[in-house]
Amino acid sequence: MSKFEHVSASLSGLDAVEGLKWVVQNLDRVKFATSLGTEDQVLTHLIATNKFPVQLFTLDTGRLFQETYELLELTQSKYQIPIDIYFPDNLEVEQYVKSNGINGFYHSVENRKSCCGIRKVNPLKRALANTGLWITGLRKSQSVNRQLMQKVAWSEEMNVMKYNPLFEWTDEDIKDFIDKHNIPVNTLHRKGFPSIGCAPCTRAVALGEDERAGRWWWEGSSKECGLHETKVSQIVPQPSQS
Ligand code: SF4
Repeated sequence: MSKFEHVSASLSGLDAVEGLKWVVQNLDRVKFATSLGTEDQVLTHLIATNKFPVQLFTLDTGRLFQETYELLELTQSKYQIPIDIYFPDNLEVEQYVKSNGINGFYHSVENRKSCCGIRKVNPLKRALANTGLWITGLRKSQSVNRQLMQKVAWSEEMNVMKYNPLFEWTDEDIKDFIDKHNIPVNTLHRKGFPSIGCAPCTRAVALGEDERAGRWWWEGSSKECGLHETKVSQIVPQPSQS
């Protein structure tokens, strides 16, 4: 059995706390990438209150909402845990803006993906270098794309095993847990923003719309930024992963 298969089988029947406990006891260099979304706030709460030795980090693209920065500060202060902040490479951003303009991501899908690559994907690769396991807050019910994902997957692009402890949680599970434990969340959620990314690329959604409909709304395609690519290879681990 490969290491991937062993981890996947071990985590399959465990709930979020049991799973987090298992990974910190059995794997080294476990990191959690938080975007400060509601699922990520639940995970931060679980990691902090159980004192699991997980390194937390977030990505500051330079285009986030002020409300997101306020939540970051509040979360660090409430849970008294460090959250490392990774920024994009300044030369890459400067060259991008020079070539495409300050809001060049609106001009084409290619430009938008390039901006996400510079401001999100490249810093994430840096953050995940030398990582044993990458924890994320993905849930399968979040969008059609994400229904193709798995609780434990292999990220080809980041070259690391990825674990989604809240994979089976429903919207109601998240809401109830947040209410019960008084977990701080982004104030924009109350204003119709279920999924929050960069300010120029996120809008509020109407009642009944898909929760990711407000992300890159001017594009009709996949609502992903490259951080969580969905490929068959994520679902079927490659032999080299053992
Ligand atoms: Fe750039 Fe928008 Fe992607 Fe943020 S979400 S990195 S501003 S294209």
